[in-house]
Amino acid sequence: MRKRVLITGAAGFLGSHLSDRFIKEGYRVVAMDNLITGDLRNIEHLFKLEQFEFYHHDVSKFVYVPGQLDYIMHFASPASPIDYLKIPIQTLKVGSLGIHNLLGLARAKKARIMIASTSEVYGDPTVHPQPEEYLGNVNAVGPRGVYDEAKRFQEAMTMAYHTFHRLETRIVRIFNTYGPRMRLNDGRVLPAFIGQALRGEDLTVFGDGSQTRSFCYVDDLVEGIYRLLLSDYVQPMNIGNPNEITIRDFAEEIIKLTGTTQKVIYQPLPKDDPKQRRPDITKAKNMLGWEPKVSRADGLKLTYEYFKSLPREVLYEREHKNFDSYIK
Ligand code: UDP
Repeated sequence: MRKRVLITGAAGFLGSHLSDRFIKEGYRVVAMDNLITGDLRNIEHLFKLEQFEFYHHDVSKFVYVPGQLDYIMHFASPASPIDYLKIPIQTLKVGSLGIHNLLGLARAKKARIMIASTSEVYGDPTVHPQPEEYLGNVNAVGPRGVYDEAKRFQEAMTMAYHTFHRLETRIVRIFNTYGPRMRLNDGRVLPAFIGQALRGEDLTVFGDGSQTRSFCYVDDLVEGIYRLLLSDYVQPMNIGNPNEITIRDFAEEIIKLTGTTQKVIYQPLPKDDPKQRRPDITKAKNMLGWEPKVSRADGLKLTYEYFKSLPREVLYEREHKNFDSYIK
């Protein structure tokens, strides 16, 4: 009998890559998404498969899935600073009401559940690089608070179900990840820069560009997540690429990659924008034998090919088509 996995946020960037991976590994995939920030184009190719099914549902409301479930992967959430500025309440709800519903479902089905947490639980970190033991520096009432605190609550809730209900739980703290199927208009730095290059616009660096990020290619991330799910490790684990770069240098890399003749322009730094971020992945290395394999040069090439292949009008979609109906 094939194992059956529920993936929430399956039409999103990470959810769709996870769906592909589980199908490849021989699972039945139950995909769920309310399509606020997800896009069915990311999983269109899976609908023809007998072992794939899709529910258009908001996990912040009671979740019902008939039949057996072996695993639940909770990857539903807005995940870019621009998105959670636009839909702050939904962001809080999916990380709190949503996880409560899914933990209940996991109990009922005796399923193992993994939650997507984030490096945002470390806030604007004062420890560098960030090991899992670092407790973070988060502003609960700042613009990122709705995401950061929802994810922190989600970790606490998941751990409580593990401790009190003996539920099998896994917590992955995901650092900046990139690759095909990122939403071009979600405001994240990589789609922002590549979109600007493709439209012939200047590249907008926020602040002086000295802030750092460490970018992980999506296939590496999915491999780490898959190994963590099958491991017996229940404490939070960082999965990300420790190769760190300033945003200014990153803009230069995108200019070289795309051959754009546009220049870098500087805009104000958003509030609470972390100054540095880099995962300490010692645990993942030791416990999962995992480390990233794809260089930034190779990953960026693959990602650029994807963005170039999109229909031209997608480049000009300034906002996700479903936002309006949800915000009103
Ligand atoms: N950023 C930028 N220009 C943009 C979009 C983002 O300079 O057009 C910066 C942003 O201020 C941050 C970094 O790039 O310092 C990464 O931003 P992103 O939104 O991708 O992710 P996060 O801040 O959550 O890591």
